[in-house]
Amino acid sequence: MSAGREPRAREEPAGAGERDATGDTRVAPAPAEAGVLVEAKGLTMRFPIAGSMWSRSRQVVHAVEDVSFVVHRGETLGLVGESGSGKTTLGRLALRLYRPSAGRIYFDGVDLTDQSVRALRPLRRQMQIVFQDPYSSLNPRMTVLAALREPMLVHGLARSRQDAKARVAALLERVGLRADQMDRYPHEFSGGQRQRVGIARALAVEPRFIVTDEPVSALDVSIQAQIINLLADLREQLALSYLFIAHDLHVVRHISDRVAVMYLGRLVETAPTEALFDEPLHPYTKALLSALPVPDPTRPPKPTLLAGDVPSPIDPPPGCAFHPRCPIAERGLCDRVRPELRELRPGHFVACHLAE
Ligand code: SF4
Repeated sequence: MSAGREPRAREEPAGAGERDATGDTRVAPAPAEAGVLVEAKGLTMRFPIAGSMWSRSRQVVHAVEDVSFVVHRGETLGLVGESGSGKTTLGRLALRLYRPSAGRIYFDGVDLTDQSVRALRPLRRQMQIVFQDPYSSLNPRMTVLAALREPMLVHGLARSRQDAKARVAALLERVGLRADQMDRYPHEFSGGQRQRVGIARALAVEPRFIVTDEPVSALDVSIQAQIINLLADLREQLALSYLFIAHDLHVVRHISDRVAVMYLGRLVETAPTEALFDEPLHPYTKALLSALPVPDPTRPPKPTLLAGDVPSPIDPPPGCAFHPRCPIAERGLCDRVRPELRELRPGHFVACHLAE
């Protein structure tokens, strides 16, 4: 999809700050002034490989290694990287669906890292996930009304079943569906409509932070734009914060305030969105962006072809993990010394010895 704003969905959600039957009147403050909502410090996740439990040299997958980031209130942090880079694992760590092997995760100043399942329960409501496949959060045997009403009642967000029904109706309209569709089952919706139901399911518990994990990658391009616009509108109307995971750089550019690039479990570059797209500093980010089509047809893209495949996360390379594929790697330095993220421009961090 293009980076510009596409035509909107036929049925628009309510405008910013309007009160609806859900009682929601939150209005998004500017992210920079609003402070930090989610903070990750040195998050690490290593999974033991099945079957290696009793072997002498126990192998692990280094899914996420020493990752730190913040998501401000009302902000969208885009997270990009190739398949297997650790994006999805990092998203689940941000929600504390996994207990990290090392590092800490904070939500609104509360350290979630060592909290018990019971202690996490009230906070879970405030942190939701939207999956690529909405069936992951929808029971195919439940009508939309039942699927959305249940969490409202469980979390005490509706006074009665009738109140919950009114809230479900308002929620469906907010995500661009019709209230009279609440008696349908998930399979009775198109792919785009089903993703709207998945988003409504996440919103039913009035979250503040949502991880969206490839929310549009299974949809047609025209539908993708509608869902992205919907997510952007909802962020404004409900003062939401997103960690937006995607491999499609156009999609990420369209919705993100800042972008973080992952390679083999580590962040290699984070920057305000326009800075990253206008002047990428890490060789890996440059290679990713070099393949993007540009609006000027007289300047066709010249993709930088990276040598080899992404190395195995079971045995990541020493030094800079990107060095076996990097076109400017310096022997004796890049293959020995791991580069730390350094702030080379205001808010623009790069993990590369040679980026200046
Ligand atoms: Fe390339 Fe070296 Fe920079 Fe890694 S540290 S990206 S190998 S130049």
